This record gives sequence, structure tokens and C-alpha cells, in this order.
Amino acid sequence: MKHSAVNALDEVLGQRFDVLDKGFIRVIDYMGDDSAVVQAARVSYGKGTKKVLEDRGLIRYLMRNRHTTPFEMCEIKLHIKLPIFIARQWMRHRTGSFNEYSARYSILDSDMYTPDDSTPCLQSSSNKQGRDTTVDTTLGKQISSSIQKNNETAYLLYEELLANGVAKEIARIVLPLNCYTQFYWKVNLNNLMHFIKLRLDRHAQYEIRQYAKILYDILKIWVPTSLEAFNDYLLNGMYLSEKVMTILKRKIKGENIQYEDSGLSKQEWAIIEDCFI
Ligand SMILES: Cc1cc2nc3c(=O)[nH]c(=O)nc-3n(C[C@H](O)[C@H](O)[C@H](O)COP(=O)(O)OP(=O)(O)OC[C@H]3O[C@@H](n4cnc5c(N)ncnc54)[C@H](O)[C@@H]3O)c2cc1C
Repeated sequence: MKHSAVNALDEVLGQRFDVLDKGFIRVIDYMGDDSAVVQAARVSYGKGTKKVLEDRGLIRYLMRNRHTTPFEMCEIKLHIKLPIFIARQWMRHRTGSFNEYSARYSILDSDMYTPDDSTPCLQSSSNKQGRDTTVDTTLGKQISSSIQKNNETAYLLYEELLANGVAKEIARIVLPLNCYTQFYWKVNLNNLMHFIKLRLDRHAQYEIRQYAKILYDILKIWVPTSLEAFNDYLLNGMYLSEKVMTILKRKIKGENIQYEDSGLSKQEWAIIEDCFI
């Protein structure tokens, strides 16, 4: 019996995929591939034939029915460099294993994230947790330059404290949240897809979405069949409430139902409009 190997993924092992201004993701190691998902599922469903088409059908069946454990048979280990404020969001995903750079033990370098002038930075007026999509490059330059100034001042103070014999674990507290950190992250395919679903979403912060895009590209290389099913059922599919289903069925039968009579919230009515307009 041989280990499963994905040649295309082997080719990029250790390679740096750049993210933001100074961040990256590197694939360090992996276990399993699409066939490992199928192999594990067949323990529960019996052997059957092993044609590619049937493997694809089985993977789609598992995804459709949220039979998630076969996807946990694949694991990946990544080396990630990211700003601390994104690491905080990342670590909310409790189902992976982390090992982070120790700023108590080692001196942090001066890498800090500074949005460039094409990154939208203004507060959204409709979403309290989000950003406006407008890009004003003149304002963008001013924002970048103010952040840059703060980076330099903070790092100078950090160095000064260290030079005066202050412990690394206390000197670091003067550094801002945009300081880069690094960790190793080991996660199984099921939890990785869950992460990508949440962090690719337009409601997620712009910076973590840039990392999620790279993770999505890695899945394309690693588990293309699982990714296809993920796209269909989880990423681009959606759950519908009983109320929405009822209105949809009535509309399909030709009933003329208006928002005011539907009993749906505005957000749920938008789903109906998406289907019929
Ligand atoms: C757009 C966005 C905005 C957010 N805003 C905020 C915010 O304002 N404040 C904030 O605090 N967080 C916020 N979060 C974080 C969010 O609440 C989750 O903590 C994060 O997305 C991790 O999701 P998760 O728990 O599903 O993932 P994981 O921790 O990886 O867990 C995966 C799944 O395992 C199960 N699981 C794991 N641990 C437990 C447990 N202890 N008990 C039961 N089931 C468990 C759950 O089914 C869970 O969905 C935000 C997330 C997003 C995507």
C-alpha cells in the first residue's frame, strides 16, 4: 500500500504564496486527497466499483448530506505569516492546531501591515462591522502614510525598551495590531472548508479574505473533486427557511404574492426577489 500523493501539490510544497504586503501562506505537508475521502466513506457504504464518475458521485453525496467525517481524513499543515489582528480572527477557528512564533522568546522584526492606497478604508454607512467599497487614492495615501509613521514610532520604542534591558515579553506591548506574526496551522479538510466558507464571504474582513482566496486555490490543486462539491453545496448553495420554501413553492405555482403579505423579513424577501427578478 502506498501513501496518496498529489503531484501538483508536491510541486508547490514550501513555496510562498504572497498575501497582503508582507504576508504569505506556505504548504508544509499534507495527508490524503480526494481518494482518501472516498476510501473512508466506503468503509461505511461498502466497496462498490471505483470508477472516477462514481467517486465523484459519492463525494457529492457526502457533501450534500453533510456526511462530514470522510473529509476529516485529509489534513494539511500550513505556515502562515499574517498581521496580529487577522491572527486573532483566525484563531477563533478552534478546530485546527496552532503553533505560533513566540514574541516572549524572540525579537519581532519590523514587518507591519500597511494598506496600500487602493485598499478601501472608510467606515461603511450600512454595515457597522464593515468598510465602504469606495477607493479614494489621495485619502488612501494619507492613511498609508499615517499608519507607516505609527509603525516606525512604535518599533523605535520597542527597540529602545529592548536596548534598556526590558524583557521581550513586556517590550512587545507597545507594538500595534498590524504587526506580523507567524504560525503553523494543521487542519483537516472539513474544517478548512468551513473556514473558507466563512472567511471568503463578503461579510468577512478584506484582509482575511485575501488569505481565504489562497487557501481556496490550494484546494483546487489538492482536492479538486471535493472542491467542486464544496462549491456547489456549501460555498454557493444556501439553506432556506421553511417560510421561504413555502413562499417559493406558492410563487412557482403562479400565485402573486407581495412582500407585505409574505410574512418574511426584508433579507428573506431578497432571496425570493433573487429567484424571480
Ligand atoms: C463575518 C464574521 C464576523 C464575526 N464577528 C464576530 C464578532 O463580532 N465577535 C466574535 O466574538 N466573533 C465573531 N466572529 C467569529 C465567529 O463567531 C466564530 O467564532 C468563528 O467564525 C469560528 O467559527 P466556528 O466556531 O464555526 O469554527 P470552529 O471553531 O472551527 O468550529 C467549527 C465547528 O465545530 C463546532 N464547535 C467547535 N467548538 C465548539 C464548542 N465549543 N461547542 C459546540 N460546537 C463547537 C461548531 O459546530 C463549529 O461550527 C465572526 C465571524 C465571521 C465570519
